[in-house]
Amino acid sequence: MDAREAALRQAHGHAVGWLASLSDRRVPARASVDEIVRALGADLPDGPSAPADVVDLLATACEPGLTAFPSGRFYGFVIGGTEPAALAADWLVSAWDQNSVMRAVSPAYTAAEDIAGAWLLDLLGLPGGSAVGFATGATMANFTCLAAARDAVLRRTGWNVAEEGLVGGPPVRVVASEDRHMAVDLALRYLGLGRPELVRADRQGRIEPEALRRTLAAGGQRPTLVILQAGDIHSGGFDPFVDSIRAARDVGAWVHVDGAFGLWAAASPTYAHLTAGCADADSWATDAHKTLNVPYDCGLAVVRDPSAVRAAMGLQGDYLIHHERGDPIDKVPELSRRGRAFTVWAALRSLGRSGVADLVERLCRHASAFATGIAGIDGARVLNDVVFTQVCAEFGDDGRTERVLARLLDDGTAWISGSTWHGRRVMRISVSNWSTTDDDVTRALEAIHRAAAD
Ligand SMILES: *Cc1c(COP(=O)(O)O)cnc(C)c1O
Repeated sequence: MDAREAALRQAHGHAVGWLASLSDRRVPARASVDEIVRALGADLPDGPSAPADVVDLLATACEPGLTAFPSGRFYGFVIGGTEPAALAADWLVSAWDQNSVMRAVSPAYTAAEDIAGAWLLDLLGLPGGSAVGFATGATMANFTCLAAARDAVLRRTGWNVAEEGLVGGPPVRVVASEDRHMAVDLALRYLGLGRPELVRADRQGRIEPEALRRTLAAGGQRPTLVILQAGDIHSGGFDPFVDSIRAARDVGAWVHVDGAFGLWAAASPTYAHLTAGCADADSWATDAHKTLNVPYDCGLAVVRDPSAVRAAMGLQGDYLIHHERGDPIDKVPELSRRGRAFTVWAALRSLGRSGVADLVERLCRHASAFATGIAGIDGARVLNDVVFTQVCAEFGDDGRTERVLARLLDDGTAWISGSTWHGRRVMRISVSNWSTTDDDVTRALEAIHRAAAD
């Protein structure tokens, strides 16, 4: 056995051991950063080590400092796990080491990207023929779509951003909901567009279409981007797309949807109604590493007009080999990058249409079970309409909510984070992992009960 194969066998053994430990291990990490630094050793070695020994040291030293993100009882942020086919495909992605930039240079990668992109448009109910770019996450997917949007609305006024930059050009107006995700602001900042103008949202974080219409009317006909949301991180709520998009169209705005986790509702016949009208937008950002449960990192930038994203992101270089049908490089900001579409293809091929619908419905069913279980705890109250995968609850007052969160983390059965919503501290539960079972939910609810017992 050569050194490389020995290292891969080490990695395989440790990976399988880690995954097997998930059903019973504490979800929070047991060790601190400093402890792991000591275990790994901070000094750069003077000479080489056998690759298998390095992998063994890495796995053994890191194990106590790993948070069980892929556990069925991790409900913090909006964290997906890893579907088995996608995880195994990801190992191949590293072994194959394809630079996924050009159609002519990695036919296999481009084929997987073309197929996965078409399947995604189908499942998410988005217009066929849209460009699907594979970025690092929804933040960069939002950035990619909004770059295409910014350039397109300026081009209509005769201003070419690629040639002239933004300085001296017509101002671009950006209008978004007060309950948008902060990643949208980050993307706008990268794009030199500053803060968006904010429109009121209702108690469930859904933009109010009449308020949007009034705000847009006050600005007149200017290059305008309207940013909507499919899936609020607190309530799981969806913006009313039909009325909002109609208001945006009346002023000729480009409509972009941030649907990092919520866009996947469209893949389930039971939940597709939440996204009604959403497909009439111009661009959509979503994640594959959240609801679809592929490994990090994978976000999807979907743009109805492929020429718009190519104008913003495409690159012509003398040493590159361009293809008339377009290249993966034309749809995302990065040049060199890993073969992200392979894992998406594998997850979709493994689940099939019904499997994706089942996945979405299972996550929602578990979220409802959490809401019912928490409502039965003395003094606890679920604050959102649980329409999708998110649950926000409080336990009487901010102090008690904080204590419940702290005790829960101490208990270690589950990992749930806090947040502030409508001015009060909340426990925020996000069910995003394919492997969560009814038993996981029961065990997590028992832990919440224990944490809430005074
Ligand atoms: C998670 C999330 C983002 C950011 O996505 P990343 O993949 O972390 O970059 C943006 N918008 C919403 C609604 C999200 O939930």
